Amino acid sequence: MKISKITVWQVDLPLHEGDYKWSGGKSVETFDSTIVGVETDEGVIGYGEVCPLGPVYLASYAKGVRVGVEELGPSLLGENPLHLEKLNRLMDQAMKGHPYVKSAIDVACWDILGKVSGLPVSSLLGGAYGENFVLYRAISQESPDEMAKKIAGYREEGYRRFQLKVGGDPDTDIKRISQASAQLQPGDKLVADANTGWLKHEAMRVVEAVRDIDVYIEQPCLRYEDCLSVRKHTNLPFVLDEVIDGMPEILKASHDLAMDVVNIKISKFGGLTRAKQARDLCVSLGVAMTLEDTWGGDIVTSAIAHLAHSTPTDFLFTATDFNSYVTQPLANGAPQRINGRMASSMAPGLGIEPMMDVLGDPEFVIS
Ligand code: MG
Repeated sequence: MKISKITVWQVDLPLHEGDYKWSGGKSVETFDSTIVGVETDEGVIGYGEVCPLGPVYLASYAKGVRVGVEELGPSLLGENPLHLEKLNRLMDQAMKGHPYVKSAIDVACWDILGKVSGLPVSSLLGGAYGENFVLYRAISQESPDEMAKKIAGYREEGYRRFQLKVGGDPDTDIKRISQASAQLQPGDKLVADANTGWLKHEAMRVVEAVRDIDVYIEQPCLRYEDCLSVRKHTNLPFVLDEVIDGMPEILKASHDLAMDVVNIKISKFGGLTRAKQARDLCVSLGVAMTLEDTWGGDIVTSAIAHLAHSTPTDFLFTATDFNSYVTQPLANGAPQRINGRMASSMAPGLGIEPMMDVLGDPEFVIS
């Protein structure tokens, strides 16, 4: 089986809430998502999706996905899409870095592998645990009152885990955390994600002020060393995200006792092949995980669902249902949130069928 054609589409994903805001005044109103179809000489087509969180979250941007696939795609024609490790090595030889560019291609090849073998991707990733898995809701950065109100509302919808977007003015952030925690019931979990937004002295003030609150602290500062310094001065459970994008970083952070939970985003690691490798390493190291992506619609959410559902339940801290944040559906068969939880499809591959009328005309085709 050989890759014979790669097709790329662009779709806008507006948000139900109108916009999404996080540290440093960063925000997105409409997400720009790229869908990649990888077709084989035997007529099987697999799909992947990549949607950066704007151009200022990670070193990735929406147009970069498409320019990158245009650059990388021709070197993959004629290659076997089922040989995922070989294919990833080939992508790394053809293009240094840019994991987010490779992610949609890799996920599309997992979809092909599932369709050809007749198995859901969750089975290929190790097998699904339980009926479904737990989701969190990200709470966009607003006033402390507004964020507390949103937690109460999303709690009504069934969510039991909440990720507060902090990383702003430390005094306001202390109020955000305190007011949000007052909304919680026993068993709920609260994460304060600063998204690199605090300097060390600000982070130290916040963790000291909220020391008696049951809250996780995520990625307080920009640099790994600064996060580690804050970590050493707090007993609150600690999550690393932006500074962890590969196996060496996971091993170093584990060795330094720098985190209790790690955030693995599929496109940050370059696709499901590398995300699975990272997931399995974290299980071996005893580190729990948030499994998700930078953003996306139905196809990204399907890929997250297969990865999360095939992760041992006690290691899955939480996962994300991005397709319920956006107003635009992309595919039939995508998993849907029920009472704050989600299950991956049992159909072969990702279990989705793109809505071709939504995808529209391709941006370009490589063949
Ligand atoms: Mg985060």
